[in-house]
Amino acid sequence: MTDTHCHLHLRQFDPDRDAVVARAEANEVTKIIEVGLDLESNRKAIALATRYPQVYAAVGIHPHEAGKATRESWEELRSLASRPDVVAIGETGLDYYRDYSPREEQKEALKRQLSLARELKKPVILHDREAHDDLLAIVEEDGKGVTGVFHCFSGDLKMAERCLEMGFYISIAGPVTYRNAHRLRELARTLPLEKLLLETDSPFLSPYGGRNEPANVKVVAQKIAEVRGISWEEVARTTTENAALLLGL
Ligand SMILES: [Zn+2]
Ligand SMILES: [Zn+2]
Repeated sequence: MTDTHCHLHLRQFDPDRDAVVARAEANEVTKIIEVGLDLESNRKAIALATRYPQVYAAVGIHPHEAGKATRESWEELRSLASRPDVVAIGETGLDYYRDYSPREEQKEALKRQLSLARELKKPVILHDREAHDDLLAIVEEDGKGVTGVFHCFSGDLKMAERCLEMGFYISIAGPVTYRNAHRLRELARTLPLEKLLLETDSPFLSPYGGRNEPANVKVVAQKIAEVRGISWEEVARTTTENAALLLGL
């Protein structure tokens, strides 16, 4: 399996990063996408990808960090994103739940990263929290010719259909296992398996509470398999192929 979204650079993993990567491998998670959030974590993402053969880096400016991005951040993002070992731009997107950056600056940062993705012919990793309409409108308008993934999908069926129409993938994370996640499970049951990706968003969104880690992508695969009435191996195989296709792994 491929964990298409996690943040192993965060300090939560400082005590035992090697063991976390080894545990992922032991649970058949053989590829991990490490996603940057700002200038410093983008550098760390690339360092992790260099250190662990199963880790691949994505670089971007998270909407929380959009307000702090300087000209230097954008110049360095462009140069890091151009590296052949960087597989995607992101995460970028809109977060109206926390609103840590002014919304206009979040939108501006998103548009810049969509245009960088188009120029470099790399996919984008999109973050969306309570910003469905604005995010879709910007991706439809400014993301022409760009592909990618809506990570930790939290929209409804209508939104999912619009994402698929634009050629994007939908990534399912640990919340699919949560007791009240009826709508997400219904999407996990009905959307085409060929358009789904798996992720953990570690260290966040643990299916069990506490720190999440890439090994738990298996729990996500098992839940999707359960609601679809197929084997988890089939979910694992297809979503791994999807990730390889999108990210060129
Ligand atoms: Zn995110
Ligand atoms: Zn994330």
